[in-house]
Amino acid sequence: MTALLSLDSRNFTLACDGCGQLVTNLAPTMGDWAVAWSLFSQDGWTGDDLATGPHACGRCTRTSPPPRMVEQALTRERTTPTARESRRLSVTHIADVAVVTLSGNPDLLVNSRLRDLVLDLRGRARRLAVDVTGVSRLDSGAFDVLVEAHRQPIAVCLVGPAPQIQDALRLLSLDGLFPAFRTLPEALAGDPAGAAALPTADVP
Ligand SMILES: [Zn+2]
Repeated sequence: MTALLSLDSRNFTLACDGCGQLVTNLAPTMGDWAVAWSLFSQDGWTGDDLATGPHACGRCTRTSPPPRMVEQALTRERTTPTARESRRLSVTHIADVAVVTLSGNPDLLVNSRLRDLVLDLRGRARRLAVDVTGVSRLDSGAFDVLVEAHRQPIAVCLVGPAPQIQDALRLLSLDGLFPAFRTLPEALAGDPAGAAALPTADVP
């Protein structure tokens, strides 16, 4: 994820995966990721259209594409197996759907564990429902893993996202990628009415 979310999910920073250059405080002027990226890509930045990147500034674009910085962090974490155990993440399989339940807000350890799960699901599950009912926010690392799952390709949906999570999805222009459902049964049924009925937060 090279669009880095602020802690309150109301703002984001563009980071170059090559040199680490940061362009901060983009939400007030740009609105969301889609607008920001359309402008930066005209200004010499290159990379993926999705907020997860990788992205490179004009100076780094002339060299080889950089690895994604969040993925690097998670890969480092992956090398310490004992650290990957987490009571804050559980997984079950219901029919062809992998259901991951998060308890407590994600951090580097939870995101690494989630990433391991997604890698294990490759070719084995076509749908992933992430139950975030017990979570008030998701960070850039969590969204990075969800996009990685989306690219497997696994159809990813969220269950019970709090308003702050819905705001973050819109801010990063990822809301079209991950449908949201109020409850797990609705997600399992893939009921679009359930998704449509989800109360949305007011957008200022
Ligand atoms: Zn750069």
